[in-house]
Amino acid sequence: MANPPTDPHTAALLGAMRQYWGYDEFRPLQREAMTSVMEGRDSVVVLPTGGGKSLCYQVPAIAMGGMAVVVSPLISLMKDQVDALRNCGVAADFVNSSLSAEERREVSDRVQSGETKLLYAAPERLLMTGTLKFLQQQNVSFVAIDEAHCISSWGHDFRPEYRGMRVLKDAFPHAAVHAYTATASEAVRDDIAKQLGLSDPSMLVGSFDRPNLAYRVRSAQQRLQQIAAMVERHKGEPGIVYCISRKEVEKTAAALVELGCRAAPYHAGLSPDQRKKNQDDFINDRLEVVVATVAFGMGIDKPNVRFVVHAGMPKSVEHYQQESGRAGRDSLEADCLLLYSRSDAVTWRRMIENPSEGGDADSIAAGLRALEGISRYCAGVTCRHRMLVEHFGQAFENDNCGACDVCLGELDLVDDPVVLSQKILSCVARLDQRYGADYVCKVLCGSTEQRIVQSGHDSLSTHGLLADERAANVRDWVEQLVAQAYLIKAGEYGVLQLTDSGLRLLKGDGDPKLLKAAAKAAPSRRESRS
Ligand code: ADP
Ligand code: ZN
Repeated sequence: MANPPTDPHTAALLGAMRQYWGYDEFRPLQREAMTSVMEGRDSVVVLPTGGGKSLCYQVPAIAMGGMAVVVSPLISLMKDQVDALRNCGVAADFVNSSLSAEERREVSDRVQSGETKLLYAAPERLLMTGTLKFLQQQNVSFVAIDEAHCISSWGHDFRPEYRGMRVLKDAFPHAAVHAYTATASEAVRDDIAKQLGLSDPSMLVGSFDRPNLAYRVRSAQQRLQQIAAMVERHKGEPGIVYCISRKEVEKTAAALVELGCRAAPYHAGLSPDQRKKNQDDFINDRLEVVVATVAFGMGIDKPNVRFVVHAGMPKSVEHYQQESGRAGRDSLEADCLLLYSRSDAVTWRRMIENPSEGGDADSIAAGLRALEGISRYCAGVTCRHRMLVEHFGQAFENDNCGACDVCLGELDLVDDPVVLSQKILSCVARLDQRYGADYVCKVLCGSTEQRIVQSGHDSLSTHGLLADERAANVRDWVEQLVAQAYLIKAGEYGVLQLTDSGLRLLKGDGDPKLLKAAAKAAPSRRESRS
């Protein structure tokens, strides 16, 4: 047996996991996370999406006496979780604003009789004086906080109503508090512990690599064909296509239906009934593909999603990790394809700089930094698994992951990247490292627009050095050199400057990788291996 029950806690946990879920083994860190709960030691548990965070508190809630209180941010998510638990035979309930007075009474009866083992609550409901008082009279075994990064303004999904959670330690002095999140940054992790007032919590951080996911990035040439090709390869299998805007969602879903695919849209503009129907149809395999904005997926627990396509660039690496992470939760192989063009970055930049709500200088700056991060991922010509794992501050030991476009050798690389890079870098140097990427590219392509002529840059030796290349390619190469840290974009205007390795490359020392122009459509992992 993989997990011989060496101590009484482990035996009890495995017993409950087997009895209610039929699972025989812990996933990585689950045993440690569950043991913290059993021992009543506060904890912060960081596992990637699909890592099995829910079980970390659900199993101990059953194995312990009393009732666990679970704080969860979304009403829809709560109901799904409670339904899933009841299906497994676990006595679970939830309280939120969707319940009638009658229903609330029934819940409180079940809680008072000691029947309920897990009680889910929305933060604003939990913090109401009446609710807190009522719960303080019950036998609360511990408090679990789901999506705990929402408490930190450092995180990418700050929710002010989560801030009130700090009263929980005082309200339940004998119950430990456990926080769960998929956001790995150390700053967020420490902030969660601080905001919740945890005492000496055990910090459990899982590996962020998802070896069963094959990652690919392609420049968006003909998005619809690229999406359709992926759908075709996974014919009859469930998949998610993420688009940036509702309009894109509608257009793409309609086009896929036209092609004979059972697809449906999902975005915040649909009626709640329609959204629920599409979501249920997807979960129950009546649909193959959901085309969605990022509103879709929080809390979706569908283990057999075989592909996730991003029809446009996501907002941050964190978002990408989370959204692509909805593929392959069953640990079987799945494909993740990201289609991007630089205009996506421009769209996001506009949305970040003109937020519909909030938007202080700090959060705008954080948003723009996050956007730089995902742009670098897209332009990168380094192992995708490595980039993702390193982004989350973890080491990646594997030289060839065997599951990304870079390691599988699918990318069409320029034959003589050193000379090409040197042309670009020397143009940056000739311009005294004082211009942004667009301007540098224009000079390289030999533009004679007024600004360039007036500055005398048309007489530089590097002017027109890449006049034979398409401007869009040149621009992409600049991003690729930034992604490989030969160049950096400095200051508010993103002025291009040479790094130390850029200077060395100018002297011929370096190993840059540049992509040839138009990328081919992505083959699936199976095809490329056969
Ligand atoms: P997360 O909340 O971290 O995204 P979930 O808790 O939703 O992940 O778990 C993802 C999937 O993995 C679910 O279908 C869950 O039932 C399954 N799972 C969790 N733990 C185990 C385990 N020990 N063995 C098998 N499947 C598991
Ligand atoms: Zn790789």
